[in-house]
Amino acid sequence: MFEKSIKAYEEACKVIPGGVDSPVRAFKSVGGTPPFIQKGEGAYLYDIDGNKYLDFVQSWGPLIFGHCDKDIEEAVIKTVKNGLSFGAPTELETQLANEIVEMYDNIDKVRFVSSGTEATMSAIRLARGVTGKNDIIKFEGCYHGHSDSLLVQAGSGMATFGAPSSPGVPADLTKHTLVCEYNNIENLKKCFEDSSDIACIIIEPIAGNMGLVPATEEFLATCRELCDKYGALLIFDEVMSGFRASLKGASGILKTQGDIITFGKVIGAGMPVGAFAASREIMGHLSPEGKVYQAGTLSGNPVAMAAGLVSLRKLKANSELIYADLSAKANKLVNGLKDIATKYNIPMQVDTRGSMFGFFFCEKAPKNFAEVGLCDFKRFATFHHEMLKKGFYFACSQYETGFICTTITNEDIDACLNAADEIMKNL
Ligand code: PMP
Repeated sequence: MFEKSIKAYEEACKVIPGGVDSPVRAFKSVGGTPPFIQKGEGAYLYDIDGNKYLDFVQSWGPLIFGHCDKDIEEAVIKTVKNGLSFGAPTELETQLANEIVEMYDNIDKVRFVSSGTEATMSAIRLARGVTGKNDIIKFEGCYHGHSDSLLVQAGSGMATFGAPSSPGVPADLTKHTLVCEYNNIENLKKCFEDSSDIACIIIEPIAGNMGLVPATEEFLATCRELCDKYGALLIFDEVMSGFRASLKGASGILKTQGDIITFGKVIGAGMPVGAFAASREIMGHLSPEGKVYQAGTLSGNPVAMAAGLVSLRKLKANSELIYADLSAKANKLVNGLKDIATKYNIPMQVDTRGSMFGFFFCEKAPKNFAEVGLCDFKRFATFHHEMLKKGFYFACSQYETGFICTTITNEDIDACLNAADEIMKNL
């Protein structure tokens, strides 16, 4: 059933390293060949062999309205006709910035970039510029993109490949990156005691790059407390959780708030967009207002802004209904999976936050990266492969999070659970 994809993959491997432009797409963690995609439609993906899949990846999060949403498509086409890029300001940037700013009490200004990696990299530069300090704290298993100083004990594809760091990143560049265990308060306190040069903590408040592992309220409150006590800034990386965990992302459902928030994925609705945002005072340090330099030829690209604008406006216009529905469907899916697993004596842990969902084959819900590493990866790989053959496209690693889009129906989820039952019987 994958003949054309296998051939396409062989061709791709001749001219693209590993045949892919982002490592996790290569299916290394679960084995097999990735289906090559022909098109998407709502909740579904179609590959070049003509297979149809219910898509729980949704381009790793951006497509909250599913593939080919008509309103987003229309806005993109209309904007394209005026030109693709100007390298000059457009009103669309202000409009999208307003949509984001309006939603948070602690944000006054936004700077748009073209990826989540750029957003976190720039947020860290800003934090260092504001505080005049050098060290940053990140947590094992949190992934913040592939900039040099953040490629230390990162999750997602990095975890999948078991690489604690990457060749090509000089130790001199990562010596200011202090790595702590997620959800470990004592470890974090010790880190602040050991260094007097901490500019910021960067955290996924709801980690999605070691599977779905939310931080505890107590842990986040400690992050806040220590940042305030030692004059550091707290960066909430909401590239994944922004507009996914709730309309206001993780910030909307947590008591603790960050000083700088990074965005990506949903705010671009599938176009390349990232952003970082903070108070007027903090953002005032950014060039051209301040001295912290940051720039981009395609930043605030009009087509990307138009797509994000429609996406956020649609979410806002109907937010209560949309988020209740997404969340109910995410819960229906994972609770259904858990019931089936229990029926066949398979240990499984499940969790959701809004339209994000996660499941692990293990006895106890993991609280950190090391505990995720204890899960049954072999069982996950078999489950993944068998589900794919039945037409259900889950993220191809246990270190990833799944996403529900608005066009998924309860019947889709029932079909998925029926398939899962057949597979778990023999898992
Ligand atoms: N931060 C988080 C939390 C992410 O999940 C990701 C990507 N999955 C990034 C940053 C990097 O974003 P991008 O891939 O757009 O560079």
